[in-house]
Amino acid sequence: VPVVRAQSSSGYVPDSKFYKVEAILRPWRVSHVSSALLKIGIRGVTVSDVRGFGAQGGSTERQGGSEFSEDNFVAKIKMEIVVSKDQVEAVVDTIIEAARTGEIGDGKIFVVPVSDVIRVRTGERGEKAEKMTGGRSDVSSSST
Ligand code: ATP
Ligand code: GLN
Repeated sequence: VPVVRAQSSSGYVPDSKFYKVEAILRPWRVSHVSSALLKIGIRGVTVSDVRGFGAQGGSTERQGGSEFSEDNFVAKIKMEIVVSKDQVEAVVDTIIEAARTGEIGDGKIFVVPVSDVIRVRTGERGEKAEKMTGGRSDVSSSST
């Protein structure tokens, strides 16, 4: 599969310290994507099973009937990854690289500003809550 990168962003509006990268992807790609994210130090990820309708419509996945649901919605997974602003592009490019097949139905990525992050265990907010020990900011302080 030829490499594709996200086109350059014109900047994130509205401006925020944190963004949620929300990706709707093919279920059978999820482990590939999550390991690629772990490799770049992204440790906080939430995944849900969802069903959707896009250009692919309700047409059967080429890989077989397992992703096809009776009511014409296609089974997808949603990955939600909250990161600091400077990590958004790396996460987007990593997802594209790991999720792309080039066929209709590869999915879509939404970037959403996040107002605050609160860690339940400690009550920490903002940067302290968003940062994870051994996470990307730790890993990339030595190398990118
Ligand atoms: P603690 O240090 O208290 O363990 P933590 O920051 O490691 O806090 P968890 O309590 O382990 O967070 O996270 C609970 C769940 O929250 C995770 O399983 C994941 O689904 C979700 N999650 C945590 N961080 C993020 C993030 N940055 N983006 C998306 N989901 C996250
Ligand atoms: N921004 C966090 C860090 O660098 C990582 C966030 C995440 O893994 N989702 O520690």
